[in-house]
Amino acid sequence: MKALVLKERLWLELCERNDPEPGEGEAQVRVACCSVCRTDARMWQSGHRDLVMPRILGHEISGYRENERVAVWPGLACGECSFCLQGRENLCASMRILGFHLDGGFAEYLAVPSSSLLPVPATLPMELAALAEPLGCALHALDRAGVGAGERVLIYGGGTLGLFLALGAGDRGAIPVLVEPDREKLRMSLAFRTRFAVGSAEDPSALCGSFDAAFNAASSPSTIEGFRKLRPGGRYCLFSGLQELPETAPGLLAELHYRELQLLGSYGCTRSSMAAALSLLDAFSGDLGFLVSRRLRLEGLAAAMPEVTAGKHFKMIVEF
Ligand SMILES: [Zn+2]
Ligand SMILES: [Zn+2]
Repeated sequence: MKALVLKERLWLELCERNDPEPGEGEAQVRVACCSVCRTDARMWQSGHRDLVMPRILGHEISGYRENERVAVWPGLACGECSFCLQGRENLCASMRILGFHLDGGFAEYLAVPSSSLLPVPATLPMELAALAEPLGCALHALDRAGVGAGERVLIYGGGTLGLFLALGAGDRGAIPVLVEPDREKLRMSLAFRTRFAVGSAEDPSALCGSFDAAFNAASSPSTIEGFRKLRPGGRYCLFSGLQELPETAPGLLAELHYRELQLLGSYGCTRSSMAAALSLLDAFSGDLGFLVSRRLRLEGLAAAMPEVTAGKHFKMIVEF
């Protein structure tokens, strides 16, 4: 099979590999689409805590098990520990992730546990099914923060993940507001924001008053200033890691103390949040096509990495 292998930092090479043989309890998946994550580009550029090289990257995968359309939950958990038994398998101590610890979806075939495969609704295009993983991460974060109907939710970052947080928040009856400094990016999501009543910080009235919850779908240290926008007892979910702490960190921690704010983290997604994501993608597939900014073949991906790093577009999808 053809596979794109990250040999070292900044060195992606198209290779010929043996097709993976499924072991016991596993299935072979023919990859249909694998969408490119900013994390893939970051790993290419500077590595990652969970990355072992050489590696086939790619963790946002849709494909076929024989003729069945499936999306791939990219985790491999033990299935037996207390976290796995509670459905919090993303916290399993022996968790390994496709495209990080194990070979991922920038290849023609994968072998994965059958239990990691989720059925794709018949009316959902496979390129959108590949987005079930990032949307699943957003839904998982909303679950972590317990976002409910009528709550005001502040979201830093108007890229794909910020919009997915807004979509999920709106679906729960909450009122999302985006903070995105890039006007061009805001322009690209205008139809979506209008359709789903997502406010933006461009409109000062949207920022008035306090928020019940805030999320950062961007890694800039200033995103943590969202603490100050929370009502007493409000929740801040660290959805993206921060590049560094802002100089104002001590004052922000004082806010946490005096106003009894809650700080929580969210990393990855569970099978159940991915299954919920597939239903939501199917329900709104007609409104989400704009998220696919570019389709490309595996041969073209290495050259496109700097563009992914720049983060000017929504999703790039590798089609097989
Ligand atoms: Zn991702
Ligand atoms: Zn486990």
